[in-house]
Amino acid sequence: MNQWNRELFSGTNSVALRFDFCTLPFHPKSVRMNINLVSDTVTKPTPAMLLAMMSAKVGDDVFGEDPTVNALQDKAAVLFGKEAALFCPSGTMTNQIAIKVHTQPLDEVICDHYSHIYQYEVGGYAYNSGVAINLIAGANGKITAGQVASAIKPVHDWLPLSRLVVLENTANKGGGSIYTLDEVRPIRQLCRERGLALHLDGARLFNALVETGESTLDWGAEFDSISICLSKGLGAPVGSLLLGNQDFIKQARRVRKVMGGGMRQAGYLAAAGIFALENQVERLRDDHRRAKVLGETLQRLPWVADVRPVQSNIVIFDLVPPLTAGAFLKKLSENGVAGTSFGPATVRFTTHLDFTEEMLGRVVEVLGKLVF
Ligand SMILES: *Cc1c(COP(=O)(O)O)cnc(C)c1O
Repeated sequence: MNQWNRELFSGTNSVALRFDFCTLPFHPKSVRMNINLVSDTVTKPTPAMLLAMMSAKVGDDVFGEDPTVNALQDKAAVLFGKEAALFCPSGTMTNQIAIKVHTQPLDEVICDHYSHIYQYEVGGYAYNSGVAINLIAGANGKITAGQVASAIKPVHDWLPLSRLVVLENTANKGGGSIYTLDEVRPIRQLCRERGLALHLDGARLFNALVETGESTLDWGAEFDSISICLSKGLGAPVGSLLLGNQDFIKQARRVRKVMGGGMRQAGYLAAAGIFALENQVERLRDDHRRAKVLGETLQRLPWVADVRPVQSNIVIFDLVPPLTAGAFLKKLSENGVAGTSFGPATVRFTTHLDFTEEMLGRVVEVLGKLVF
């Protein structure tokens, strides 16, 4: 347990959630205003989400008999105009399943060099699928059709076969940058012409869509498969969705099982996902507004060298040498604020459901007072 959790669960300030059959302790968001900007995965379910989870009808999902999991999968498939969906424990699993189903060993995946599938999934593309990776140095985590066209390899016995392109929206390490459909469509067209599959790592796709106003249906139409995280900005405790056509999802179910991701009464978790999709999408705009305030505040500080353009809920900034991320984060944590290092002198802040307006005011105040 890190210091943030220890504070939250010290129990000094807990209230109770009352049901007609029991009373549960409910731990409030913050006891001493410790502020966690490490990730949008640190959120806790709200009382309303917990209620939805506790009221879920469940069954054994390995047999396809959990009504709440089925309802979540159907809801997501309809939302994106896809034939089917699969509920999985994590976004790493949905991405890894997609790579496995789209490729054969000796194929290669083309993606930006900042991609989550390359940076943060333990090299799983090689381990799980036996494929190579062909990295493109894009701009802020985004690549263009022209770059993909140059990256696709000719067919020779001695080269891996270019088989799959993966895009990430929003692009995490790119600073939460956003793709528009106008940027994606030429890539889709190219993939069609050259016989490559196109997968979207949409861990934070809803963050992008509330900004652009583009529709889930239009995004669904441009990809062979899409991964969506419910446990990031959407605020569910666990879970990701993989979307595709019937045949793809049928194969994906088998791969999920061999990866150990077949869950039993997972409807308790799926209920949180349904609640998140119905109640916690529009509010992502609040996270974006707060991230912009953080970005503008940082820009004015003498010890900040550069802030990447803030387009969603992620703020990545570089420190002026010799200040290091480690030294900065230590000082920050002494003031009750946690962030994360994204390089020797690079820091990431991520805003989320449990980061309130009051906390924003406090962070702006703390940043203004720090001297290096
Ligand atoms: C978080 C994330 C994932 C999946 O992460 P899990 O922690 O395995 O759920 C995938 N892609 C991106 C861009 C992410 O930020």
